[in-house]
Amino acid sequence: MITHLKNVIADSKMEKVIIVGGVAGGASAAARLRRLREDLEITVLERGPFVSFANCGLPYYVGQVIKEEERLKLMTPEKFLDRFNINIKIDHEVKSIDRINKNITVESLKDGDMIQLDYDYLILSPGASPIVPPFTGMNDVPVFILRNIPDSNKIIHHIESNNVKHATVIGGGFIGLEMAENLRHRGIKVKVTEMLDQVMASLDKEIAQFVHQELLLNGVCLQLEDPVDSFEVSSEGFNYVITKSGGRIKTDMIILAIGVKPENQLAEEAGLDIGPKGHIIVDEQMRTSDPSIFAVGDAIQIKNFVTKKPTGVPLAGPANKQGRIVADVIAGRNSRYNGVLGASVVKVFDLTVSSVGLNEKELSKTELKYEKIYVHPNNHAGYYPGAVPITLKLIFETPNGKILGAQAVGGSGTDKRIDVISTVMKFDGTVFDLEELELTYAPPYGSAKDPVNMAGFVASNVLKGDMPIWHWNELAKIQSNNSIILDVRTADEYEIGTIEGAINISDLELRNRLNEIPQNKNIYLFCEVGFRAYLSTRFLIQKGYQVKNLTGGYKLYKTAKATTEEIAAECGASEEVIEEFIEKKRKITEDYIEIDASGLACPGPLNALIKSLEILPENKKLKIYATDPGFKASVEAYAKLNEAVKLLSLGKEEGKLVAILEKGITTHEEIEAPVKPEKKTRKQIRAIGAPTLSNITASELYERMDSAEAPAILIDVRTPQEYHGRTGHVKNSKLMPLGELMNNVDALEQYKDEEIVVICHSGSRSAMAAQLLVRAGFKDVRNLTGGMIIWHRSGYPVENGGVKSTNY
Ligand code: FAD
Repeated sequence: MITHLKNVIADSKMEKVIIVGGVAGGASAAARLRRLREDLEITVLERGPFVSFANCGLPYYVGQVIKEEERLKLMTPEKFLDRFNINIKIDHEVKSIDRINKNITVESLKDGDMIQLDYDYLILSPGASPIVPPFTGMNDVPVFILRNIPDSNKIIHHIESNNVKHATVIGGGFIGLEMAENLRHRGIKVKVTEMLDQVMASLDKEIAQFVHQELLLNGVCLQLEDPVDSFEVSSEGFNYVITKSGGRIKTDMIILAIGVKPENQLAEEAGLDIGPKGHIIVDEQMRTSDPSIFAVGDAIQIKNFVTKKPTGVPLAGPANKQGRIVADVIAGRNSRYNGVLGASVVKVFDLTVSSVGLNEKELSKTELKYEKIYVHPNNHAGYYPGAVPITLKLIFETPNGKILGAQAVGGSGTDKRIDVISTVMKFDGTVFDLEELELTYAPPYGSAKDPVNMAGFVASNVLKGDMPIWHWNELAKIQSNNSIILDVRTADEYEIGTIEGAINISDLELRNRLNEIPQNKNIYLFCEVGFRAYLSTRFLIQKGYQVKNLTGGYKLYKTAKATTEEIAAECGASEEVIEEFIEKKRKITEDYIEIDASGLACPGPLNALIKSLEILPENKKLKIYATDPGFKASVEAYAKLNEAVKLLSLGKEEGKLVAILEKGITTHEEIEAPVKPEKKTRKQIRAIGAPTLSNITASELYERMDSAEAPAILIDVRTPQEYHGRTGHVKNSKLMPLGELMNNVDALEQYKDEEIVVICHSGSRSAMAAQLLVRAGFKDVRNLTGGMIIWHRSGYPVENGGVKSTNY
């Protein structure tokens, strides 16, 4: 039944504005319109049960960081009516637009009634809906999308009523990663599968690699370059995500977050102009091809501020601003939307990930000529406790220096640096403007030369020719050139790891060893972050050399180079991957269960072996193949440590290591009990010749800390600020910053044959320290996996303050 509502309206002479969609863009437009014009009748129609809710907070509600649903509801229809005299109809879906008669047909979703409403102005803010391809098996498995409060409640209900232990997130974009983090908060194992070779398509790959590291460090497994193909339920009732590579991910639930598409059906059916990617086309005043109809938010096509080409950007900031502009325009003001920069930020565990403008992938599709630099300054003065680095990539047009884009990952304040750059971009600023910016400074907040200034200084140096640069992905070109790669870090740093083919002369020695550098070669310099190599570049240029500095230094180079296989290998140790592997690579013959663990990096094959032994039937032997050479030592050690397991043979077949094992079952109890590795003391493990360098988990360290089995010494190689700062340190750990350790290994001489544990923030500096100690002849060096991040995350206690000296 269609009721014509014309007479329901109190004052039919009033101009009528109808808004479709009552969240970001729609609610903003409604509220501002009322502030500008009391004489309008404003009605908002919202399909869902809530108006103006915080969709950006939904992942945190799922993770129970935001505990109450009520906190997501920013406004109610009652408040809109009381405060703004705006009539909000929730659970009302607009079905069609009659542009000739200027009315819309609306369905009340509660009772199915159809109504018609007249409009003078219509504002469309219907948003974008999650892309849901018709995957085979979709209806058989628990798949969820996340767009609104009811969606999040469905996810929470499934988690709580099904004791969910494992979730697969499909898509490594903003929502996918926020969901991954929040599911981890709930103690759920998470795997993110992604079609591309990186997460966060808004970033370039080398910056996304820092995000990969953070995810892996927080126990999120990554499966890159492997699109989802279908879903399946096994005969035992387990859910599987099947990937194009043939991978099978056993999982308890699936979050589908592969992107959004504009909700354009209403507009399309009404004959409004639609862009090539389905967005509603609007002018700078948000007017569609019908002058009485406006559109805002995720559904529209807008101008990219940098390229001036049409684009669609589904972000809350632009939607809200466009809502204000349309209100201005209807109120007779001349406001315009000048284009979108795409400034965005996302929290990925302890990493802030932020970007603005164009990335290189986008730039490569334009005619623009550009250059890029990387810097890694601290977020605030290094001497004030708690400073953490920000890796900042700045992309600028050549030769004029106009800023085209920026990407940053790091600690607190990362987003604000991108905000500053975004502001400069809005005024068509250049890298020279960044040099000059006067930004606030006090030690807890920044530096006298802010990271934004630093990026400006470096970029300006490049443009002025003061510092020619080379890039992390240009090595092959350089190696085939008449060139020398020169590592100007210290000999110790060089020893720990360097670029293939590099020679080492530290920046401090350069003046005295100049005769070792031939004048007729191109010199490609690098140091850890770019600063020492910059000083060396300036020195060598003045001595007449052709020199280039690796922008972003070895830190960027090392991180950027990790391959998809290496990332997968890091995941390889996790239990669920091993289970998948065993299932996929298992062959059952009359005598054997055969597992092919080829391709798994250590400790993957050993984990596969242990898991397989646990489920090995009593009448079969286990035959396991591996290609990692480390498998030989580990399988021998494992068999020695486990009396219940017999290593029957260990050899090679067709170039692969192959071990045959059986369970040495002697009693009935043992037949019943799965074979578990027997717990040995550290001393016993050492006795059979374990490697000199190994990892120690936070749980092992914590369990042994106050026991007779405690490691001989714990060395924290962070800075004094970090050690004494907010994050605190592990009880009884001694502070010995990495630089100090490098120069003073002898101070630890008495521990040469003892178990030493090295600790840092994330596990990477301590890995360097551990290698250094092993090279210096230490026999049992152990790196705390995941450093203080995992220690904290595991909830183990820390101490603040404490021992300041490093006398041992
Ligand atoms: P929406 O806010 O989506 O509102 C559209 C509304 O229109 C919907 O409620 C829909 O029900 C209604 N509607 C559609 N068709 C009809 C119809 N025919 N009749 C009646 N009603 C209709 N952006 C950020 O900038 N930062 C973030 O951190 C962030 N996090 C996000 C997290 C999640 C989980 C999600 C889903 C989005 C997030 N976004 C974020 C994106 C941001 O929410 C959107 O860009 C913004 O809400 C777009 O505003 P909009 O008005 O165009 O659409």
